[in-house]
Amino acid sequence: MILLDPRNHDRNYPDERSREVMRKTIEFFEAKGLRRLKEDDRERTWYADFLEFVKKERIFATILTPAGYGAPDSRWDTWRVCEFAEILAFYGLHYWYTWQVSVLGLGPIWMSQNEALKERTAQLLEDGGIFAFGLSERTHGADVYSSEMQLVPQSDGSYLANGEKYYIGNGNRAALVSTFGKLSDSGDYVFFAVESGHERYECIRNVVNSQSYVSSFALHDYPITEGDILSKGRGAWDAALNTVNVGKFNLGWASIGICTHALYEAFTHAANRRLYGQAVTDFPHVKQLFTDAYTRLVAMKLVALRAADYMRSASSDDRRYLLYNPVVKMKVTTQGEDVINHLWDVIAAKGFERDTFFEMAARDIRALPKLEGTVHVNIALIIKFMPNYFFNPVEYPDIPRRDDGANDDFLFAQGQTKGLGHIQFHPYEPVFESWDVPNVERFRAQTAVFKEMLEHATPGDSQANDIDFLMAVGEIFTLVVYGQLLLENARIYELETSLVDQIFDVLVRDFSSFALQLYGKPSSTPAQMEHCLRMIQKPVADAARYAEIWEEQILPLANRYEMNP
Ligand SMILES: Cc1cc2nc3c(=O)[nH]c(=O)nc-3n(C[C@H](O)[C@H](O)[C@H](O)COP(=O)(O)OP(=O)(O)OC[C@H]3O[C@@H](n4cnc5c(N)ncnc54)[C@H](O)[C@@H]3O)c2cc1C
Repeated sequence: MILLDPRNHDRNYPDERSREVMRKTIEFFEAKGLRRLKEDDRERTWYADFLEFVKKERIFATILTPAGYGAPDSRWDTWRVCEFAEILAFYGLHYWYTWQVSVLGLGPIWMSQNEALKERTAQLLEDGGIFAFGLSERTHGADVYSSEMQLVPQSDGSYLANGEKYYIGNGNRAALVSTFGKLSDSGDYVFFAVESGHERYECIRNVVNSQSYVSSFALHDYPITEGDILSKGRGAWDAALNTVNVGKFNLGWASIGICTHALYEAFTHAANRRLYGQAVTDFPHVKQLFTDAYTRLVAMKLVALRAADYMRSASSDDRRYLLYNPVVKMKVTTQGEDVINHLWDVIAAKGFERDTFFEMAARDIRALPKLEGTVHVNIALIIKFMPNYFFNPVEYPDIPRRDDGANDDFLFAQGQTKGLGHIQFHPYEPVFESWDVPNVERFRAQTAVFKEMLEHATPGDSQANDIDFLMAVGEIFTLVVYGQLLLENARIYELETSLVDQIFDVLVRDFSSFALQLYGKPSSTPAQMEHCLRMIQKPVADAARYAEIWEEQILPLANRYEMNP
């Protein structure tokens, strides 16, 4: 089974230390138990026990230090980063969050040329330090151009930092906060590191009501030397965006972790509950909801794993990951919401109970599409790749499954963030054509009509500036890329044809629903509307296939995993 099962942890790793990191993390949470996990969540207790465990076992030092800076077992290896993120979120999004914002805080450091600060950071990780990423400001949100944090040059060549940051995770305890701002004289961007324990650093408050500390902080004449500067000008801008490229991928894994735990809990509850003399799981609509939840979740994981292969294989000549990464961020996280919605429709009242994991899942799953770039921001990014994806493909060498123990050097040397519209992709059509499966074929036909619409009923100039219209187009394009990544990995993981067919049963319905949304946009033209109607298709039903998935893959989820009480 492709889903995480903490009781049967058997993922392939090239070294024992990687397996140990995962095993010990699972053991930490299972020893803590669900009751204390929920109590800490309810009481909004700072996760000092988790951070103590991380320090003692050198967990962040091993997985967040690129090769060459720390102990020999340290490397930045996206294969193990993915599963670590999944495990943390499987037990609770707040544990994931303190790790995630450390990832973000470390990004501008590992991307910088400041070797002394990198060596110091490696030591801080060994000492159990956590990190923070100080990008957002209260009044500017996604508009990073307007950052007001300033470095004011002094006559001795040093600087004084002044300004406020808002929504900064770990801002209460971070060993270093990578802070984004501008040089007051030139207006150039700058990234610099500050210590949250410094007397000129004011941690104002926690702006959220949770276990996580999402700070508002201020710098008051905080002294900065060249030794604290990470990057300036274009380099600082690129570091901000390239860090988000690395970090936002993990939000998909958080959704996968949350949904997997919620699925076990919800299915076990429903399978053991009898109403009117039958198990709840015998209702036809309940079967459908669980089948959709399960197939969506398997798809989420296959897509995120495949995107990781491209991230790990990226280079200045192969930047396809810049499309696949926002697809994971936007699509996997919104699919996570669908999964939780399906499950909650079944378990109903149970999903509110204070002792369930589900109660947290239902709350936390909502965060992931909205943070670190909203759905809109990511679709606006994704759509830039659409012309080349459909109309200007190029051949690349095959990318295999990347579960080797390499350090992902390129992620910290991604280079300039421009030129996205010039990135080319391998032809997507052969990927779909290689599957002789009814619902893949139907999806392929829908995709062909969409491409035809782009070619013959091309969105006009006014539509190209209408973000509302583009969002609807972008949803369909994203779904096509999602389907491509999914099929590539279904082959690598040798997924049963019946499961692929059942997954595409869902995707054909999703495609139809997005086509209907595009049809209804105020500015859609009659020609575009006609194409939209042709995109609306019914999936190919197959009772035997449906029964097989239910009996062989979904029913065995009952009583398969339950967290230690
Ligand atoms: C719990 C939590 C933790 C966080 N942690 C951190 C952290 O550690 N470090 C950090 O720096 N930040 C952090 N953030 C900030 C977070 O990343 C931002 O909230 C997020 O990027 C979106 O900004 P916003 O919510 O202010 O939305 P806004 O920027 O106000 O956006 C408003 C609307 O405009 C749309 N919009 C904006 N720009 C575009 C565009 N270019 N194209 C299309 N639509 C657009 C948005 O989609 C949205 O619908 C955190 C926030 C929270 C709530």
